[in-house]
Amino acid sequence: MGTPGLFVVGTDTGVGKTRVATTIIRGLAALGLRVGVYKPVASGWATPAAEQSDAFLLWKAAGSPRTPQDVCPQSFTAAIAPQASAKLEGRCVDESLLRRGLEPWRTSSDVVVIEGAGGLFSPLGDDTLVVDLAREFALPLVVVDAARLGAIGRTLAVVRAARAEGVTVAAVVLSHVEPPGEPETPSSPRSVARDAAREIAARTGLPVTILDHDATTMPAGIDWLDLARR
Ligand SMILES: [Mg+2]
Repeated sequence: MGTPGLFVVGTDTGVGKTRVATTIIRGLAALGLRVGVYKPVASGWATPAAEQSDAFLLWKAAGSPRTPQDVCPQSFTAAIAPQASAKLEGRCVDESLLRRGLEPWRTSSDVVVIEGAGGLFSPLGDDTLVVDLAREFALPLVVVDAARLGAIGRTLAVVRAARAEGVTVAAVVLSHVEPPGEPETPSSPRSVARDAAREIAARTGLPVTILDHDATTMPAGIDWLDLARR
């Protein structure tokens, strides 16, 4: 039995993965757990120590364990696919390090939370997609989508594809990446998110929750540690 954990993936880039991951991490840390945090590779940041970088935010959420460099051992400046970003710097993504980088966290933590890069099928290196890493780490996925129209289709596509790839999905989070606004009508973001959550849960059998724009904790009702142990 390895260290329990969750692998947070998006239906796309910019759907709220980091916010969902940091919110789950803070909740686990508040239980007194040592939470390991890992971002296998990042682009758009010259260094994982840059405040506001995903790695830095994950690290802070976990209570600053180890170093930001341990959170994200490979970081490239240009905000494009990692291997293309690396190439601009005359470097390449170390695909072995993508895998080895999790080890220090596995041995020093009660639970690990990993944030992927981009979507489930985004390339991390020439030979590795996010889904490949998820399968090898054997951690259940938390699928994140933006709480806006199209969430049902985007989310079902990712959940079904993950399952077809032999990867377990633990839960789905719809994240309000913008303030949902008022008033509430059948087509307003809050209604769309609620309807989508119900539909996704019915069609996948998964727990589905909605993270409000301003929320600092996950809604009650999902035991993230229990999901991480499966
Ligand atoms: Mg992110």
